[in-house]
Amino acid sequence: MSTDGKLEDVLSRLDLPVGTYATVVHDQANSPEEWPPRIVVWTDRPYNACPSCGQQVPRDVSLLVQLNRGSLEPFSQQHGCGQWLDALWEPVRGAGEGYEATPDGVLRVAAELLDRLNSARVDRRERIRARLRRELTAALHRLDEPLKEGETSEGRAEEVTTGNEIDPGIYRDGDWLIWAYDPGEADIDAALITVLASEVRAHARA
Ligand SMILES: [Zn+2]
Repeated sequence: MSTDGKLEDVLSRLDLPVGTYATVVHDQANSPEEWPPRIVVWTDRPYNACPSCGQQVPRDVSLLVQLNRGSLEPFSQQHGCGQWLDALWEPVRGAGEGYEATPDGVLRVAAELLDRLNSARVDRRERIRARLRRELTAALHRLDEPLKEGETSEGRAEEVTTGNEIDPGIYRDGDWLIWAYDPGEADIDAALITVLASEVRAHARA
């Protein structure tokens, strides 16, 4: 039985959710009768900066895998710095699992991947927020320490200040705060994460 063109037909009838993609992967080296093509679904990369070195990386991951005698082999996602970049993908599995290579089956896999992408986003933002809370907590402790001889409160404030309105870090704007960009957000406003001193103090009491 030849599946030539059939899977492409499935995809051509699809309207995939934004940020998800699907393609038919063919075995380039072996007979398609023996090793039929597979549909692979993937998403945009969950961030646009390398989590290790901070360099910008494309969100678009394009073709992720090749098919070799029935097994899907991912291409290297290793960044120049050595970090393995995350890429979310899934093949559309065989019949009987609810993931058949039908438009609905493909959409189901795409929706699952989007769920995983979103929970990765929530986890990532919570990790950043936790780090900011730790850094601001340390700065507030330092500000509370008694001044040594010759030290001024201005000098102490300067010591803990690491940022300003333009550059991420700790600074005082009325009260103390810390902020950072979440590298996973393409939109600059959505990328902003701010932790206020009042939040850290409330956290310490909780
Ligand atoms: Zn890197």
